[in-house]
Amino acid sequence: MPANALEKKENDADYLNPEQQEAVVTLDKALLVLSGAGTGKTKVLTAKIAYIIDHGYAYPSQILAVTFSNRAAGEMKERLRRLTDRSDAVWLGTFHSICARILRQHADLVGMSRDFTIIDADDQQRIVRQILKEANADPKAAPGFFSKISRWKDKGITVADMHDSSPEARIYKIYQERIRSYDSADFGDLLLYAIEVFKKSPEVLRQYREKFKYILVDEYQDTNMSQYIWLRMLCPTGQGICCVGDDDQAIYSWRGAEVGNILRFEKDFQNTKIIRLERNYRSKGHILGAASSLIAHNRQRLGKTVWTEDDQGEKVTVKRAFNGFDEAMFAAEKIEFLRRRYGVKYGETAILVRAGYQTREFEERLTAFGLPYRVVGGLKFYDRQEIKDIVAYMRLICQPNDGLAFERIINVPRRGIGAAAVAKFHAVAEEKNISLYRAAEEVFSTGELRPSLQTALGEFINLTESVRAKKNLRPAEIAKIILTETGYQEALYREQTMEAQARIENLRELLIALEEFETLGEFIEHVGLVADSARHSTEEVVSLMTLHSAKGLEFEAVFLAGWEDGVFPHNLSLRDDNLEEERRLAYVGITRARKYAFISYAENRRIYNQWQSNPPSRFLSELSSDHVDFAEREYAEEDVLRFGSVR
Ligand code: ATP
Ligand code: MG
Repeated sequence: MPANALEKKENDADYLNPEQQEAVVTLDKALLVLSGAGTGKTKVLTAKIAYIIDHGYAYPSQILAVTFSNRAAGEMKERLRRLTDRSDAVWLGTFHSICARILRQHADLVGMSRDFTIIDADDQQRIVRQILKEANADPKAAPGFFSKISRWKDKGITVADMHDSSPEARIYKIYQERIRSYDSADFGDLLLYAIEVFKKSPEVLRQYREKFKYILVDEYQDTNMSQYIWLRMLCPTGQGICCVGDDDQAIYSWRGAEVGNILRFEKDFQNTKIIRLERNYRSKGHILGAASSLIAHNRQRLGKTVWTEDDQGEKVTVKRAFNGFDEAMFAAEKIEFLRRRYGVKYGETAILVRAGYQTREFEERLTAFGLPYRVVGGLKFYDRQEIKDIVAYMRLICQPNDGLAFERIINVPRRGIGAAAVAKFHAVAEEKNISLYRAAEEVFSTGELRPSLQTALGEFINLTESVRAKKNLRPAEIAKIILTETGYQEALYREQTMEAQARIENLRELLIALEEFETLGEFIEHVGLVADSARHSTEEVVSLMTLHSAKGLEFEAVFLAGWEDGVFPHNLSLRDDNLEEERRLAYVGITRARKYAFISYAENRRIYNQWQSNPPSRFLSELSSDHVDFAEREYAEEDVLRFGSVR
């Protein structure tokens, strides 16, 4: 057997300990690997896939592997390629991407076209706002409705399941009709429709059940109900299933995840086996000790031992900072110090925060120090306005029914087609049950618009059709045509502002990104799915991200910032009595570190333009002092003496 992990020796990168080996070779049971952070769960999953392939237990295309994020899927693919050269056909991705793939095959069963568009949270919010406006309700209530609808979808509750006539239920119904009419699906729909496909066609379901001989799921503790239902449909007996997870790392209940799914495993499936891995290979002793002492304060947990044979390493340092500036300064200086003294690369360093807004202070300090960084999952490239505009053009070219794309760019750049005209298109679209784009064509053909509008609309339609005729060109070529023919690029050049300049640079970057794609459809699918994945993941830069998005990752050095009551644990969790989930989040954070972990809190903090003084996080007092250094040593002083100024 080539690349067989089971034959490796202790020091090989691919070596597996006996329990891990058992998890890899156990194929005849529904297997749950339940164990703490850094014990090799993800490693086992990858090794298992390679094992199945190399031993001929299944073809690669008969293996389904579900991971939590696009980034995790990417990393797993890379690791798999190292283990076996036959991994390309494995169905490996997030729940969403796998469901989208299945749905494209059987879209007709749920009354969609194959080319349906996947809409993101931004579009969703916009639609809800629009619906509220039409109902003369306050559009500011949109976020509330939006999350209600999302939670229903997470729970697998469709419009058909709604039996009350509450305003939320009504909005849900209208919302669903609206996005259906745009031939689109949101993220929650991908699962619901995939479930519907299986329900509508037992034959299709049977095919997939037969196809996927082995199903592997990472981070099982954070699956939501609809993902769970979908999995159970695919694999009702549990034959060939392998889930890995850690109840102590369940951090997505606010997004509908149900830790009960992992706790119920033995009841759900027949012939189950649970394997616990106890040896942690990631973190030094003190880091693991600090994390374990913290999580021990949770009551609702299965409880498990995790140990390491590694040495203790350095204690976790707790740093008291005067304010946010000081805190960011500490991190920046320390990052530079670790690099110079211990050779810790920027790419091996992460700053983890509780909420997105906290990154700004760090960004400023890192920039001032000239340290390269990226905000992972924050300022997403594909969320930027100019990128969304051009992508909307591409969507409309690919998919004339895409009403959202049409609305986004009908007057971008400005061509004098205002809200009144769009309202007219809406009316015709509804009356004739056609897409907005077709409605615009109809309106144009009647010649009823005033001349300037008529001309503008004519030009828009001509432009769209002429690009559509070229839709088989490479996506980068199509984008260039759009940028010039629409006058979008020129309008930006004319603006001559710094902002416009930044947009132009972003568009250049888009063209670079597009080079990787052969077809427009392929690119659009990609954009729909990468919302949460980081670009340039291999670059040597410091990662700035939220604790939530750091799940599953590991770094040499980790900075955990903002440990103040109200910031972390988060205000809302204090109110909602959700402290245990916050504590799990802290556990996830600390266990991301291999060698160095720093926790900081600021005595004064500016939040939304107000200075506050919050008490230090209650989690700090829960950390065992055996593993934590609470000393208020000023690293900067010592470092400056030793290495010269790092500023
Ligand atoms: P998390 O709960 O954080 O997702 P995990 O249980 O998935 O963690 P992995 O990411 O698979 O853990 O492994 C953690 C680290 O330990 C990785 O760097 C991995 O390569 C290493 N590792 C795992 N098992 C072994 C082993 N048997 N020998 C050497 N290193 C190992
Ligand atoms: Mg993992």
